[in-house]
Amino acid sequence: MDKLIYKEVRNFIGGKFVKGGKKMLDVICPLDGKVISKVPLSGKEELDAAVDAAKKAFPGWSAIPIKERVQIFYRYKTILEKNIEELTYVTHIECGKTMGEARAEVEKSIELTEFACSLPQMLGGEILEVSNGVECRIDYHPVGVVASIAPFNFPHMVPHWTIPNAIAAGNTMVFKPSEIVPITSNHIAEMLKEAGLPDGVFNVVNGDREMVEGICDHPGISAVSFVGSTKVAKIVYARAASNFKKVAALGGAKNHLIVLPDANVQMTASNVAASMTGCAGQRCMAASAMVGVGPVDHIIEQLCEEAKKIVPGKNLGSVITKSAKERIEKYITDAEKQGAKIIVDGRNAIVEGKEGGYYVGPTIIDNVKPDMPIAKEEVFGPVLAIMRVQSLDDAIAIENSSEYGNAAAVFTQNGSYARTVAEKASAGMIGVNIGVPVPREPFSFGGWNESKFGTNDITGKSSLGLWMQPKKTSIKWNAEAKTNWMS
Ligand code: NAD
Repeated sequence: MDKLIYKEVRNFIGGKFVKGGKKMLDVICPLDGKVISKVPLSGKEELDAAVDAAKKAFPGWSAIPIKERVQIFYRYKTILEKNIEELTYVTHIECGKTMGEARAEVEKSIELTEFACSLPQMLGGEILEVSNGVECRIDYHPVGVVASIAPFNFPHMVPHWTIPNAIAAGNTMVFKPSEIVPITSNHIAEMLKEAGLPDGVFNVVNGDREMVEGICDHPGISAVSFVGSTKVAKIVYARAASNFKKVAALGGAKNHLIVLPDANVQMTASNVAASMTGCAGQRCMAASAMVGVGPVDHIIEQLCEEAKKIVPGKNLGSVITKSAKERIEKYITDAEKQGAKIIVDGRNAIVEGKEGGYYVGPTIIDNVKPDMPIAKEEVFGPVLAIMRVQSLDDAIAIENSSEYGNAAAVFTQNGSYARTVAEKASAGMIGVNIGVPVPREPFSFGGWNESKFGTNDITGKSSLGLWMQPKKTSIKWNAEAKTNWMS
């Protein structure tokens, strides 16, 4: 039995860390395969308790003026900054990222918290004199108890996509982390408490599918955000909406990079290599398919050189589980059997001293045909499938045929080609000479097609419609009748 380096993960309900759940699941460090903690798989009882706590906290929290509510997040931001080393390390250990990637994730959480601090400036409401002596005003109100459900691949950042905005907007929250990476959630709860957040405003329930289904069905929850695979996003969107909740459900991705022969060779090669391998390819924004237009061998050669500099255990972290490693390697092997050519092979990667870890090296596969599974499906590993076409229209047609639509990018020095791709790609986030085109606040994050279900994005301005509802008030103080058309 491995010695647990982190104490057992707890639920956090009504401001207290509490045990709960009949079953405990091992939390495994993917860098070496060792058990580092345990997490409860909780159910209805714990969810009811968390929703009750959030419901009780809502009247008091939502009554506090927003300028005062965000003071908590100014303090919280300072606490994140103070603890950045420890938070980075936890993310590294529980998710298998490199320390640099883990730190970038915490830094992004700080930026997301900053955005929440700016909400008073964005939510001032509007007022207009609409008739003689009559004014209409619009104010934004929180929706009540909300839930946020997270995936494994960003244990720190993805929770911060929702927690600061939803809570600063006046809601109270039940948060369900991924049961694969639950440790960070307890740190977030501790830090929010330290920042002065009243008990019950933020609650954590641990669990798996049963907990997610409970959240979708719970009558006390008004809005649900979900981030994870498309398969589950569809289930959550349909189930929560059928229970009349507001829902934003973000799903998986297959992001295309269209590379033209005139692209800057070094910049393109290092950018594509970084996009396909960052976080071991486990980013919903990762480059997963490259479409080379015409003669791009010179760029692919340099790309292979760049990819070979990325080494598991050094500047490349692990994938999340043993089964993820097996799934990714099967995709590669199947593509080879179907006639594609492996030009950089990351299968069977082993890191000395960490033989139990789940590593896949950078893998580049050329001569992939658009109908092969590796061209169409989300692999979620450091693997790039290269397709070759002769025209930009053909490249755009391949991108457009994807059922997903998170990100698409073009690499070229020709403004007209870049503009064409930006206009015609069927994706919510576009990069021009940028391999991971994540919009930064106040712009919002969200894809198209089967990468997102629901009308709101998950961050930035567009997320606020999920967490708030507009109230329109028409006011006339004039006692006389018929002085204007509003009686
Ligand atoms: P996942 O869908 O397996 O799990 C996400 C959450 O759903 C977890 O909390 C999990 O407990 C729960 N869950 C799992 N199976 C369920 C089921 N059958 N019914 C109900 N709930 C269930 O996703 P993951 O493997 O944790 O994360 C990786 C996926 O998330 C990838 O597809 C990736 O592209 C996607 N992702 C998307 C975005 C985005 O912004 N679009 C961001 C990050 C990750």
